[in-house]
Amino acid sequence: MKINWDISEIRNNIAELKHLQSIETSLEKQEAIAWQIQKYQDMLCTIYRKQSNAPILDTEKMNLDEVADIFFENTFLKKDYFLIDLLVYSWPIIQPFHEDESELTTIICNNQQLIQKTESFLKKYTTPNIYQQYLTFKQQNPHYLQIKKDNWDLGYSGLTYIDYILKKKYVLLLRSNTFYDLVTLPHELFHVLFDDFNHYLTLHNQIYYSHEVEGSFANFLAIDFYEQTLPEISLEAAKTFLSNYKDNIYSLIIGSSYLQAINFKKQFRLNKFNKILNFWNAPIPTSIAEIKNYMSSNCGKIINYALSYLASLDLFEIYKKDPEFAFYLLGNIRYSLKEDNILKILRRNHITFMDDNFTNLKAYVKKIERQ
Ligand SMILES: [Zn+2]
Repeated sequence: MKINWDISEIRNNIAELKHLQSIETSLEKQEAIAWQIQKYQDMLCTIYRKQSNAPILDTEKMNLDEVADIFFENTFLKKDYFLIDLLVYSWPIIQPFHEDESELTTIICNNQQLIQKTESFLKKYTTPNIYQQYLTFKQQNPHYLQIKKDNWDLGYSGLTYIDYILKKKYVLLLRSNTFYDLVTLPHELFHVLFDDFNHYLTLHNQIYYSHEVEGSFANFLAIDFYEQTLPEISLEAAKTFLSNYKDNIYSLIIGSSYLQAINFKKQFRLNKFNKILNFWNAPIPTSIAEIKNYMSSNCGKIINYALSYLASLDLFEIYKKDPEFAFYLLGNIRYSLKEDNILKILRRNHITFMDDNFTNLKAYVKKIERQ
């Protein structure tokens, strides 16, 4: 069965936004509306299979140098490096982990079955309250979901579009007939359920670095959900996400080593760079071009996903003992103020990786390697 957005609904949203734009007096708000219109146009491109020119968040355009410069702006001097280093300290735990490069197992399930499985996941793994929220959302937004086959030219398996102006949410699921289908739909639905429209993610702010916590949390929960019925698929997903985490940390090692290898005259010293990488027991890039490539990679995004992976792993451990409490903490993390410091927010909400030497990550890597 085909599951599609309603084209006329999207066109109506665009028309409504254009009207709002014409009567808006604040330049800042006009820009926000224009940005939102672009996002709807991107959705239409997806439907018509046209080349998309999706707007990119300011945060996602910055390289490591720039993120480092402004990350902890208005808080402590150069605390930014602390966060990068903090994540990098987990490298010795994941360094020995190797994912086998074999192809992902094909799963056979149609769209209807996929939705059914996901709904029983939501019912069993969230709270009655959250499940009810999902049912209400679905009832009020019958065309929120678009599912299509895709070979991931864009590099992602799903996307949640959040319209902060008209307060609407849409989900795109790009199916590949692998475990990604089973995990991506819960992941995107958690974005739907845990974004209460109170923050524009277009701005570079602390809260940007928490918006994947619910996504990663959904990944851990879905992997757990499928462990009984589809153990191989579940393990494949766990290994892939751990391996993605490892790649992200490696990028941060390259980035922070590069920054350290620049002396106060801003001159890069290769010897120093290689020495730092040796210290971390990390592979040395084969060329300057490769280093440059890492330095220009999307650092805000890398930190966002790496941080979320660790935070949600801690949350998952809390969930095993007390699901209600874990969801309560997730709400606290997501609805806190954007001016607040992200590490403070996490600490306040029982996230401990930054203080306990990555205890949960260590146990998780061991568990996966045993299987
Ligand atoms: Zn996500």
